[in-house]
Amino acid sequence: MNAYDSERVAALLQEHQLQPAASPELADIILLNTCSVRQKAADKIYSELGRLKKLKLKNPGLLIGVGGCLAQHESEKLLKQFKCIDLIYGTQALARLPELLRKAGEGKRAVDVDLNASQETYAGLPRGVTAPGQTSAFVSSMQGCNNYCTYCIVPYVRGPEWSREPEDIVEEVRQCIADGVCDITLLGQNVNSYGKTLSPPITFADLLSRLNELKGLTRLRFITSHPRDLSDELIACFGHLEKLCENIHLPLQSGSDRILHEMNRRYTADHYAGLIEQLRVVQPDISITSDIIVGFPGETEIDFNMTRDFIEKIGFDDLFIFHYTDRHGTKACSLQDKIPYKIKIQRLRNLNALQRGISKQRNEQLIGKTMEVLFHGPSSRGTGSLAGRTGSNKVVNCPAPSELIGKSVMVKIRKASIHSLAGTLI
Ligand code: SAM
Ligand code: SF4
Repeated sequence: MNAYDSERVAALLQEHQLQPAASPELADIILLNTCSVRQKAADKIYSELGRLKKLKLKNPGLLIGVGGCLAQHESEKLLKQFKCIDLIYGTQALARLPELLRKAGEGKRAVDVDLNASQETYAGLPRGVTAPGQTSAFVSSMQGCNNYCTYCIVPYVRGPEWSREPEDIVEEVRQCIADGVCDITLLGQNVNSYGKTLSPPITFADLLSRLNELKGLTRLRFITSHPRDLSDELIACFGHLEKLCENIHLPLQSGSDRILHEMNRRYTADHYAGLIEQLRVVQPDISITSDIIVGFPGETEIDFNMTRDFIEKIGFDDLFIFHYTDRHGTKACSLQDKIPYKIKIQRLRNLNALQRGISKQRNEQLIGKTMEVLFHGPSSRGTGSLAGRTGSNKVVNCPAPSELIGKSVMVKIRKASIHSLAGTLI
């Protein structure tokens, strides 16, 4: 989502005759797009601002702006700690950036962190610029979140859930296709809720069906859906929408029902397992990835082992495992019984090691199969090779000529490692 926001901001600035600079040293304006979902992302911004402070001493005319959800959440702290910041723009202030930059250019510190529920974040912003040869793009389908998982800052920094009109989404996808893009990922914190607030209401499955009709589009994906309301209708789409890729990211967070309850996730591990079963019936080749939080306040060894066992039982293709960090203002922040850092890291390493084995095993099952790969660029494996992705979102490296960048071709899988596959052209 942040990558998408940055693309939209870059397009807006270019519309105002600003051009990308070759390096921070040559820039007149530096904007940091920030994330506050986890402590690590927040820490990175504070250390980056420490570096930029020194750059501003050498170039006093430089304007430094901080945007995104950390800016939304910690504007006062940032302004107090870093005198070098000229402007702060929150998650819903993107379209007002030119005005804020003008004000900052006049020497006044500009701050806009209004969260206005009735306003579409991207209204008035040009579409992101499509780079030559670009085949994949993100398109926002909704913003905000009403779920209030107890550990999560998103509802506080991105505001309430708000769906875009389907016509606007279809139009943006059409424009992407006209620019040569064939692989679209729809973004939303909880796409299953898409359309509930629109009039007439429309489901996310309806939206996918409309997009499936678009000529020139070959791959359609979405992130993220919430297990509580992953509907039968949406699951069925994996069986009958031929452009919908065989891949879903379905955040689990924990395998312990007690912890899931404390997290306010409102589903049980059994319910989650049932969803996976349904998905695998509808689309046997589907790849499943998920998010896990270890060390949520009060997580015992028993809870942790339940998560471990559950991961083994499901056999995820990949996992994003995080250790819990307090997010100021969330309900979990005030819970007792915080887990010591050392234990959180032990649990994180434990699950990462477990998942590495499972990922490798799942990838090895693909050896000998022929898969359609959309090449997106040169492979880091060396010259003469390209890298691409399968519909199941696996990275494939393959010796191939550069003319195949942007093309979908059949590749026979010969080797598998934890994070990628290697193959040869058919
Ligand atoms: N909307 C998605 C969902 O329902 O799961 C996820 C969005 S969240 C921005 C991305 C991931 O960050 C979450 O799935 C969770 O695993 C992780 N996360 C969020 N808050 C966290 C926290 N306080 N500590 C550690 N990880 C966190
Ligand atoms: Fe955060 Fe996702 Fe829960 Fe919304 S559904 S509160 S974005 S974790």
